[in-house]
Amino acid sequence: MKKNPFRAAHYLLNAHRLSQLPDDTGAEIAFAGRSNAGKSSALNTICDQQGLARTSKTPGRTQQLVVFPLDETHRLIDLPGYGYAKVPESMREHWRGVIDAYLRTRDSLKGLVLVMDSRHPLREFDRQMLGFANATGRNSLCLLTKADKLTRSESLRTLGEVRKELESIAPGAQAQLFSSSKKTGVDEARATLAHWLFEANGE
Ligand code: GDP
Repeated sequence: MKKNPFRAAHYLLNAHRLSQLPDDTGAEIAFAGRSNAGKSSALNTICDQQGLARTSKTPGRTQQLVVFPLDETHRLIDLPGYGYAKVPESMREHWRGVIDAYLRTRDSLKGLVLVMDSRHPLREFDRQMLGFANATGRNSLCLLTKADKLTRSESLRTLGEVRKELESIAPGAQAQLFSSSKKTGVDEARATLAHWLFEANGE
């Protein structure tokens, strides 16, 4: 890739409700993941901007959808982190409903990036997210992040196991290793996302 189109990402707004999102036109990609999975770090790494998404000192604190446009018609959406034990169950139910509705109804959503700690992939909510994405015909990419914490053979085994499970949970979903610390898998992730946003879109 000659130029990183994600370098242009900038903060626009936080949405508490789907009605607060920008008009449902153009193309966007959503990032989801359990709290502390490494989602903010992955967004920052892909966009090559350290301060873009706030990495969490307090996991589970940001319960909003955060909108980062690249330009007038292309956006990244940071979905609320889920699964953090200190978030009350009622709040978790609420956000599960919002995310489900978002995945079902958002026409401009071209794909879902599911960020998972490569040491603990495919937990219950991850499977739900992939199931929702699959049921609504979305592209999805599993980023197995913090891969630097595994040995090469452990990370390759994990990748193989995740790909195998995806065949039943969400056929067509992709998976790759990623590390924000070591910057591994970054070009590969950018290429997939750019394809969804710019090419698969007929542009
Ligand atoms: P979020 O809650 O999913 O947005 O997760 P953060 O991006 O805030 O990361 C949670 C913690 O994991 C922080 O302490 C990060 O420094 C750390 N972290 C994130 N990505 C990586 C990675 O690729 N490698 C390592 N070793 N640590 C990471």
